[in-house]
Amino acid sequence: MAITTRFAPSPTGYLHLGHAFAAVTAWRAARMAGGRFLLRLEDIDPQRCRAEFATAILEDLTWLGFVWDGPVRVQSEHLADYRAVLDALAARGLLYPCFCSRADIAREIAAAGAAPHGPDGPLYPGICRALPLTERAAKLASGLPFAWRLDMARALAAAPEPLFYEEAGEGLVACRPAQFGDVVLGRKDVPASYHLCVTHDDALQGVTLVTRAVDLKPAADLHRLLQALMGWPAPRYAHHRLLSDATGRRLAKRDGAASLRELRAQGVTPAQVLARLEWPPTLRGA
Ligand code: GLU
Repeated sequence: MAITTRFAPSPTGYLHLGHAFAAVTAWRAARMAGGRFLLRLEDIDPQRCRAEFATAILEDLTWLGFVWDGPVRVQSEHLADYRAVLDALAARGLLYPCFCSRADIAREIAAAGAAPHGPDGPLYPGICRALPLTERAAKLASGLPFAWRLDMARALAAAPEPLFYEEAGEGLVACRPAQFGDVVLGRKDVPASYHLCVTHDDALQGVTLVTRAVDLKPAADLHRLLQALMGWPAPRYAHHRLLSDATGRRLAKRDGAASLRELRAQGVTPAQVLARLEWPPTLRGA
């Protein structure tokens, strides 16, 4: 079967070498197999994403020599798609509205003394799952903003068990989605979330091999559950290492890792950037 991969950055800053590495990994996996390489902008967070960074991503990738297949999917233009998935899950009783603020959750966790930690932080203590139905209805009727949370226990009961995904070079990995607890699938400010959008779009776009950094590996456990609940195909996964700087620290834009545009301004060529990633110094001639 033909391979389709994607590079899916969030336009929250300029791309740095770590992004270039992720993009080349996806690109190479597709092109070496004569497959398709897609580009997707994961820009659902209105606070953190900026149009200027989205434009810069396309420019920087083009400068490096990337050519992607088909149009770029821009997630913020497809909120109705994500809302439809939320509606479908809610209609099956797999989601519940959560009216809690961060402070409400912190207070509840402090009162309990501790909360188990999941890959995205402390697990939600279930305050709104336990709301009496009349109270929930009153809050909804009053127009209070709410997030949609996955009722993990119900979701697990609704999905076929056990769940596995296939990791390149590793084989089948058993999924432990319960480690995320009642995760938010639809945020208060946008009817979407990273976990929902990424699984929806990978299915919609026919992505067969998800390449991304190993720090997101636990997310595949949850994504596999969502795929099973929605009847979406299960892609294969290939999690790649994170690039580190000379001091061994992970490259991150918030720590001021040199952006591709800074390197370019310093006179570094695309071939030199690719050579730093230990990849063949040209992307052309796939
Ligand atoms: N949008 C995510 C990021 O910028 C990557 C998502 C993915 O590859 O699944 O880190």
